Amino acid sequence: MSSKHIETQAIRTQIERSQFLEHSNPLYLTSSYVFEDAEDMRASFADEKVRNIYSRYSNPNTSEFIDKICKMEGAEQGYAFASGMSAVFSTFAALLNSGDHIVFSRSIFGSTQTMFNNILPKWNISTSSFKIDEIDKIESLIQPNTKILYTESPTNPAVDILDLELLGSIAKKHNLIFLVDNCFATPYLQQPIKFGADLVIHSATKLIDGQGRVLGGVTVGNSDLIQKIYLFSRNTGPALSPFNAWVLSKSLETLPARINMHCDNALNVAEFLESNDHVNFVKYPFLKSHPQYKLAKKQMKLGGNIVAFEIKGGIDAGRNFLNTIKLLSLSANLGDTRSIVTHPASTTHAKLSEEDRLITGITSGLIRVSVGLEHIDDIIGDLKQALEN
Ligand SMILES: *Cc1c(COP(=O)(O)O)cnc(C)c1O
Repeated sequence: MSSKHIETQAIRTQIERSQFLEHSNPLYLTSSYVFEDAEDMRASFADEKVRNIYSRYSNPNTSEFIDKICKMEGAEQGYAFASGMSAVFSTFAALLNSGDHIVFSRSIFGSTQTMFNNILPKWNISTSSFKIDEIDKIESLIQPNTKILYTESPTNPAVDILDLELLGSIAKKHNLIFLVDNCFATPYLQQPIKFGADLVIHSATKLIDGQGRVLGGVTVGNSDLIQKIYLFSRNTGPALSPFNAWVLSKSLETLPARINMHCDNALNVAEFLESNDHVNFVKYPFLKSHPQYKLAKKQMKLGGNIVAFEIKGGIDAGRNFLNTIKLLSLSANLGDTRSIVTHPASTTHAKLSEEDRLITGITSGLIRVSVGLEHIDDIIGDLKQALEN
């Protein structure tokens, strides 16, 4: 692994230049590549050469994007996908067989939960879950057919923190693949491989693009596992498009600078909310009041851009709050330059029972703020007027 700093890796991971010696990497919009002759073609298909054959397998733009993420995460290899969910699904589908079992932390992204509940069972793949405060229960959930230990940290939307080093050691002891969805932290704030993760997944749609433009996903890590994911994916077709890869590679160049400002703004928002009378509690990893503050400080460089808080007055107060917001967007995305507010109990998680919502940390007045890059006074000003009205 190279010793260059992450900021430099994000900018200076270079693909081969064309004959024009362009400074900024060009976009390679081509679905396939040509061969010199019959022997070149035979050898390429026989995997005797590493080269581009067809853009479902590889493309210079996707390779650049994967390379940058690998260097930033400290990973050996990776594969890039059309969305975060195609990365999540293809990773599980490539690594698991019928009859296998997954253990996961209960607070996870809604579509991943739906995949565990309704989709993987079609292939007889089952799951068991533990709550954030039941870490000591994990080993009792592991069965002879358990293959994967899966978590997010920080979690969506409750911003809970899980002890990655502890989970990594449990996975190692039981010979499980430890898989971490690192979407909320980005490779700039946290590198799960350092704590024992075998594979790391990102929805690049969020902070990696960071400007709300394209969908993308990526899985990086141990090369034996990535080879399985690559063979599965090159034959099933969830590949990232070259255009989106080009956008995402460019986005990575400014990721550290953007994340620094996101985190600065988010900490300010969290401190403001904590001092406001209309707020019951605030959850932000780098606030001293966060239950896993020490752990967050150990695992993460900064606290991230997501702040969760509970408004006094439950569901109705949450809905009223959204209706009074003026500047911030009501939108389903997160990690954009534009600040976004959501009320999970009446939207993304409305279909869950109250009991299931509470297990994932979603109280009825919980508001999630994805803090953007507008001026901090304007963000806080809007939150303040909405809380007071
Ligand atoms: C958004 C998200 C995903 C899914 O990513 P898409 O790019 O929307 O498919 C997966 N995990 C987490 C934690 C997310 O926030």
